[in-house]
Parts: sequence; C-alpha cells; structure tokens
Amino acid sequence: MQYLSTRGYAASSDSTVSFSEILLGGLAPDGGLYLPKSYPQVSPDELNAWRNLSYADLAFEVLRKFASDIPESDLKAITTKTYTAEVYKNARQDESALAITPLRTLQEKDGFKLILQALSNGPTLAFKDMAMQLLGNLFEYALAKNHSELNIFGATSGDTGSAAEYAMRGKKGIRVFMLSPHKKMSAFQTAQMFSLQDPNIINIAVNGVFDDCQDMVKAVSNDLEFKRRQKIGTVNSINWARVVAQVVYYFRGYLSATTNNDQQVSFTVPSGNFGNICAGHIARMMGLPIAQLVVATNENDVLDEFFRTGIYRVRKSAETYHTTSPSMDISKASNFERFIYDLLDGDTARLAALFKKVDTEGGFDLSGQAGSDGDEFKKVAQFGFVSGKSIHADRLQTIRQVEQDYGVTVDTHTADGIKVAREYMQAGVTMIVLETALPAKFNETIREALGRDAERPAGFENIESLPQRFEVMDADVSKIKALIAAHTGL
Ligand SMILES: *Cc1c(COP(=O)(O)O)cnc(C)c1O
Repeated sequence: MQYLSTRGYAASSDSTVSFSEILLGGLAPDGGLYLPKSYPQVSPDELNAWRNLSYADLAFEVLRKFASDIPESDLKAITTKTYTAEVYKNARQDESALAITPLRTLQEKDGFKLILQALSNGPTLAFKDMAMQLLGNLFEYALAKNHSELNIFGATSGDTGSAAEYAMRGKKGIRVFMLSPHKKMSAFQTAQMFSLQDPNIINIAVNGVFDDCQDMVKAVSNDLEFKRRQKIGTVNSINWARVVAQVVYYFRGYLSATTNNDQQVSFTVPSGNFGNICAGHIARMMGLPIAQLVVATNENDVLDEFFRTGIYRVRKSAETYHTTSPSMDISKASNFERFIYDLLDGDTARLAALFKKVDTEGGFDLSGQAGSDGDEFKKVAQFGFVSGKSIHADRLQTIRQVEQDYGVTVDTHTADGIKVAREYMQAGVTMIVLETALPAKFNETIREALGRDAERPAGFENIESLPQRFEVMDADVSKIKALIAAHTGL
C-alpha cells in the first residue's frame, strides 16, 4: 500500500511512501494530507469471514490492508495488546467490556431501529482512546525498530491531550509535553491529566487561554532546527494511523448490527474535525454497505453548512462558540480535505487551489451557482453524506428524553448525534449513533438536564482528590523550549 498527498506530493506511480513512513509525521511536505493511492476493497466473502472475529482480530484484518509494510505477526501482536477488555474496561454495568465497542438498541419500532455504539469505554472515557491507544503501541514499536525517540508536543483544551497521555504513558522512547490553559479545563479533565505520575508525561499549565497554548506550539514547530534536534512530533487528528484505527469500529458496528451483507446501516457521527466520520467514509469506500453517513454538528455548523449548500466557509475565532459539547467546537475541519480529494476525483491541482483559497479568502464554493469554484456539491449524495445541527436546548431535551424513554444517560456530544440521527431514520435501515464520550466527562450539563450527577465508572470516584503533578508557566516560547531541552538533554 502506497500513499500520496491530497495536494499531489508522491502522486506519481514511481514514488513510494509507506505506512511506516507517515506513521510518525503529520502533514505531507506540500501541506496536504496523506491518503492511500487507492482504497483497499473488502469482498462480501471476506466481510462474512469477519463477522465473528474478536475486535482485536478484526482490527488486524483491516489494518493489514493499510500497513502492508509492517510484518503481519508484529501487527497482530500490536492489535492484540491494544484492544483488550482491560484497556476498554469502563463499559457500563450491563455492557460487555470484551466487545470493546458494545452496541445497545435504544429504539426498535415499525422497522425503525436506533442503536448506540459505545466508543468511550477506554481510559479517558472518550472515543479518541480507540485510535490513540493503538498509536501508542505503534509508535513504541516503530521507535524501538529504529533505535529512535520521539517527543510529542501539543496543546489541549481537554479530550485529545488526555487521550494522548494515557496512550503514551510508560512507553519507551516517548515523552509527552502537553500544554493546557491554567485553571480553564473542567475539574474532571484537569484531574485526569494532572494525576498521571509517569515520568515521561510532562503537563504544563500555561497562564493564558487555549489559543496562547496553541500559539506556543506553532512557534516551536516553526523553529525547524529546534524541532529536528529535539525530535518533536505531534499526534493531532490528521494523523493517518488514527484515521485508519477508526475505520475498524465502523466494520464492527455494521457486522454486529446485521446478519447478512444485503442489509444496510447508516451511521450518525458527532463531528468536529471530521476525523471520526472520515473513517466512516473510508469504510464505505472499501465496500462496507453503509447507506448514509450523517454529520452531526453543534452550534459550530461549518460542516452542516457545507453538506446543505456546497459552501465551505471556515469561521474566525470570534465566530467560534464555546458550547456544552466543547469537543465539537471547531471553526475549520482539519480532515475535511481528505473527503474533498475524493469528491474532486483525485484532482490534486484543483484541491490545492481550493485549500489555498481557504487560507486567503476563508473558504470555497462547490455549489455550482454562478461564480462558484465548481459544481461537485451535486455528487455529495453519492457518497452518502447528509448533515444536521443540534444546539444547547436540543442537547438538554435529548439527554432528558433518552434517559426517560430508554433509561440511558448520554453525554452532550452523543446527544447532538441522537438529535440529528432522528431526522434521517429510514425504515429497514438500522441507524447507529456513535457514542463519543461518557456523561461523567461533561457532568455540568448532565446536572442541568437531569438535576443529578452522571454516574462515574469504577475508579473515577475520587479522581479530583488524587495528587497532581504539573508545572505552571507563562506563555513564553523561550521558557518552554528550555524546559523541553532540560528534559531531553538534547
Ligand atoms: C473529538 C471529539 C469529537 C469530534 O470528533 P472529530 O473526529 O474531531 O470529528 C466528538 N465528540 C467527542 C467527545 C470528542 O472528543
């Protein structure tokens, strides 16, 4: 399996870029995102053979199609170590932790079926663990092979940072330097990150807001000499291995919800950076019988606007709202370029021009109207994409109603998904909503909706009172560079 950039790098047939080569990197050298030169296909026979596999074995079958340069026995050892009931132990009491992503039927009536697929049973109670745990093991494996080391440097306002830290803790050859805005995260999220005592996890609380943290990361990344010497890398949502790891649970969800390949399902995905649903798109391109891919957004509706009109218009900071489903508060969907590549049928020159326009003019228009940049919006339906939007009042109402009717408490992001999923239910096509976090993570809104606290999985009862380990720092680039160098000795 060979890879190319959405903007054309390595596109020629004689150039070779492998999975291992892009594993530790981010953007391609031309600023594009990596994709396989063609999507591997899954035949109906193969799909049947996968029906009864364990999650770990299914992950191996999917991954080996993409990571063909990793010896199969090594890859199998990695998936077996990653997808265990021990790692994904935070299943609800009536769920099987062995299933890794257990399904729960919420509603089944007159041919309309609504299912929740739990992706948030990992160590940080959000779906990012599904891919990040695999990434931790893949990184450790690749670094040991090259006798190398890696210093992951990033900024977080919540879910991504903690998922990265729990995936990399104790891993040989890896350190994590994570910036977060001092006293701006929820008590639960702060405790999750700062209670880690592993020496390779370095938490830095910055006096400032999230944007100050992100500016520091950008400043350090722009110092190429420092970055190279200190072996700095990232684990952001455009990382290709993260996307591929997410493809697996679409297969698992489909295979668990159906009995034969003539049946179709749809997926609704609470979306921000388009990473999660991009994996669904790839599963569909591989031949998985998915009818619709429903993009659910919150008040930050960049994606809903595109899937309704064909106009992609990124938002400025002042237009990006802080909502009660904060992990979907994005102004620009970093993985969206991967879908546009397919929508443009692999025309890398046109794609590069469109995304240049995003930088200079704030967006592009594929609606086909006079003066637009193209008419590909009319092809969007062929890819199964539709969308919808959910706001704070919808979230509260959905949390209440799901609790009342089905006895399940869902988190705010999942509530956005369920609200939008209802708009696209079809008779005879099971609708699977991806549960992207457990409610304990967003307790403030659960209290607002239900007047009580969310349940916490075992082991999280007193997390706020655990000893915390972090450093406080001003938003000063030279100070963070000095701190990194002091830890690495490089
Ligand atoms: C990250 C996140 C999302 C958004 O996922 P994308 O891949 O960015 O679209 C949704 N819900 C939760 C809980 C998340 O942590």
